[in-house]
Amino acid sequence: MSKVRVRFAPSPTGFFHIGSARTALFNWLYAKHTGGTFVLRIEDTDEERNSVEYLNILKDGMKWLGLDWDEGPDVGGDYGPYFQSKRADIYREYLEILRKKGRAYDKDGAVFFKVSGEPQILHDAVYGDVERLEEKDFPIFRSNGTPVFHFVNVVDDICMQITNVIRGQDHLTNTNKHIELFKAFDAPMPQFAHIPLILKSEGQGKMSKRDRGALIEEYQQKNFMPEAVRNYLCMLGWNPKNGREVMPIEEIISLFDFSGIVKSNARFDERKMAHFNTEHIRALPPEKFHALARRAIETESKIDMGSDEAYIGKVFDLCQPKAANMEGLPSMVEYFFTDDYPFDAAGREKVFKKGEPLARLDEALELFKNLEKFDHDSIYNAVCEMAEKAGRKSNEYFQIVRYAVTGQAGGPDLFPMLEILGRDKVVARIEAAKPKLAQGV
Ligand code: GLU
Repeated sequence: MSKVRVRFAPSPTGFFHIGSARTALFNWLYAKHTGGTFVLRIEDTDEERNSVEYLNILKDGMKWLGLDWDEGPDVGGDYGPYFQSKRADIYREYLEILRKKGRAYDKDGAVFFKVSGEPQILHDAVYGDVERLEEKDFPIFRSNGTPVFHFVNVVDDICMQITNVIRGQDHLTNTNKHIELFKAFDAPMPQFAHIPLILKSEGQGKMSKRDRGALIEEYQQKNFMPEAVRNYLCMLGWNPKNGREVMPIEEIISLFDFSGIVKSNARFDERKMAHFNTEHIRALPPEKFHALARRAIETESKIDMGSDEAYIGKVFDLCQPKAANMEGLPSMVEYFFTDDYPFDAAGREKVFKKGEPLARLDEALELFKNLEKFDHDSIYNAVCEMAEKAGRKSNEYFQIVRYAVTGQAGGPDLFPMLEILGRDKVVARIEAAKPKLAQGV
């Protein structure tokens, strides 16, 4: 069998949509799985709607997702040019072939393709056999001289020796025209695989560029892990059949094939995307998490982390298992680096809902001042012992201590957190917080 050559053929007329990204991804996965070649071809024949900005957004988004192309813009290759706007001569040549075979004719200034009149069978790797009759001749060049999508798409797939056409299900109805063209050129037929649509998270219809979460740019801006976005996109329309979803890309590459692509449309789920992001953050090797956390804090906040690397490392290690996303990381770690941290109003309501938190805070403060050692085990044991003697739940102490020291009702494990901050800071913070909390701040 000939070596697999697949292509992603976007028209850069808008932002990079997750539907397009998923098409690129499935092509890339198939190339990786088979040891084939992944081509990026820019279908930019619509001069008015294409722009360099959109092309850059597309390339940038693909690079961010790790979808490197083997041939195409910037990298070149033996089958170029990879921009349709630079292939006009080739299209003229191919038009001549059709004319010579009596399969193209002029009408009203346009050029039409003469259909065979025979029904065609599409053997789709996902949708199975689909038989259709193309009843009418269709235009392949407009009266202004520009070639039409069906024609250039097929000519390029022939010239670039594409073996597998993997694209959105919305092209299923075009494929009959494409099969007619391949046959008219006596060219080898690629294997087609149409992939299901991505539906909006709620209601009817395909996810549009206006739906929240639809653009790759949004995830880049929110500091999502590209690996997580890529992993989630794999699961929109493909099923690994091993009951797992959060997986390293190497494993997905080894499992990916057309039999795993599902026919039914996939529904986008923002919460699930966020969950994949969290899972990937938690699974990072600590050094990688440190580097990403540092970058998120330095670029997204004004926090001055100082120069105590050992301290910074401990903070990151403590926060990694509880970090839901990179976007929220600066506010999660802020109080480790400043005594001037805000008190969260919703958190206050939770902590002050019942009991006498301020009295518990006083008791904890006395205890902390007198503890022999201020490490997490000693703090935990002493608080539990005190609670037991007083006939209270230890949580009555835990909650108010956390709130006084961090301004938040939740966060990383309390006792290691207190140990990292150290006794002096914890005591000073509780003393400073007391009057503020008493006033209802
Ligand atoms: N330019 C077409 C699109 O963006 C390509 C379709 C195809 O992959 O054949 O939908």
